[in-house]
Amino acid sequence: MFEADEHQRLVQETARRYAQDALAQVAAQLDREGRFPAEQLRELAELGMMGVNIPEEYGGAQAGAVAYALAMMEIAQGCASTAVTMAVTNMVGETIVKFGTPEQRRRYVPELTSGRFAAGSFGLSEPSGGSDAAALRTSARRDGSGWVLNGEKQWITSGDRAGVIIVWARTQPGSGSHGISAFLVEGGQKGLHLGKREDKMGLRASSTVSLAFEELRLRADQLLGEEGHGFAIAMAALDGGRVGIASQAVGIGTAALRASVKYAKERRAFGHPIGDFQAIRFMLADCDTQLEAARLLALHAAGLKERGRPFSREGSMAKLFATETANRVCDVAVQVHGGYGYIDEFPVERHYRDVRASTLYEGTSEVQRVVISRDLLKDR
Ligand SMILES: Cc1cc2nc3c(=O)[nH]c(=O)nc-3n(C[C@H](O)[C@H](O)[C@H](O)COP(=O)(O)OP(=O)(O)OC[C@H]3O[C@@H](n4cnc5c(N)ncnc54)[C@H](O)[C@@H]3O)c2cc1C
Repeated sequence: MFEADEHQRLVQETARRYAQDALAQVAAQLDREGRFPAEQLRELAELGMMGVNIPEEYGGAQAGAVAYALAMMEIAQGCASTAVTMAVTNMVGETIVKFGTPEQRRRYVPELTSGRFAAGSFGLSEPSGGSDAAALRTSARRDGSGWVLNGEKQWITSGDRAGVIIVWARTQPGSGSHGISAFLVEGGQKGLHLGKREDKMGLRASSTVSLAFEELRLRADQLLGEEGHGFAIAMAALDGGRVGIASQAVGIGTAALRASVKYAKERRAFGHPIGDFQAIRFMLADCDTQLEAARLLALHAAGLKERGRPFSREGSMAKLFATETANRVCDVAVQVHGGYGYIDEFPVERHYRDVRASTLYEGTSEVQRVVISRDLLKDR
């Protein structure tokens, strides 16, 4: 049983109102036009949603990880593309707060929380592989007090919009995860080349691009954390990010279930609303039950994070269960809608496409199982 406290309820209510009154009204159009939700993200920043779990001194709402998960569940019900952009921006801001110097925090985080930066980006995956992140090939070599960056990144959410991109690069050749460092690359820096925007199945209003770095010069103060310790920063960021994606998936699934309940009451067959048929009722009951379990797993992981407890395994469990559940729920939602579930007249067609990426990004379902089983089998 989870009960939000007063402050968390306020954040949740704020997100719900914006999601239903503003985002849900434009989500289909943004999707159809593949239009980046710039205006919506600015409005979300004004509501404190671009730094829900970021200290007030950096412009955040300082509302905690649970409030962030609750907000993400609401925003994703309104527009999953906007939600993923918000999720990555919050993750980037939190990572800079956690690992950055006071100067780096002051320089970048208020830009993210205020919406002056349209978004933040997370540059880990490369064309040659995403799951095996330690095998990355992008490199940074020392040059005086700074660095010179070369390489390529793939699938970078908002990479063409971001004011700051955390980029992981190898700073010691051939030394596995130990030779990787994290850098704060600024949008528009010389040597940063934007690749084509991917033509995706879903989340079409979010922007996903490849990036190339060609002799991109980095100042010494663009190194995030210690040299050679970047991999641990990526893993820590992803632990938190996975709770965000679990929450996003719960939101998309909830929107699909709500649409299905409404449809089941309206659509008639054999002289009855289809919601009278047990086959339909049981599908909806299973979806409701599984989504509630997913929601509780996500909030449990968020609660551990908020209390400063280890939550890597629980974050992976939440992400695995919530994203797989939400995919099933969206599939059921199409089934309940019959042929109308397959056309863009009803929102479940978009939910079905949008939710598909959730078992892929921030670690595939298989990678979550690797994380969970590694923890399960380790010697204690
Ligand atoms: C819409 C979208 C947005 C994204 N945004 C970002 C972003 O902002 N930043 C970023 O850095 N990346 C981003 N990604 C990339 C995403 O994180 C990767 O796609 C993901 O990590 C998988 O990497 P891959 O695509 O290279 O697949 P691969 O790693 O090549 O995996 C292919 C298949 O093999 C499986 N597999 C791999 N290793 C194992 C193993 N050890 N055991 C079992 N199975 C395994 C995988 O689960 C998968 O099924 C995004 C991806 C998408 C689709």
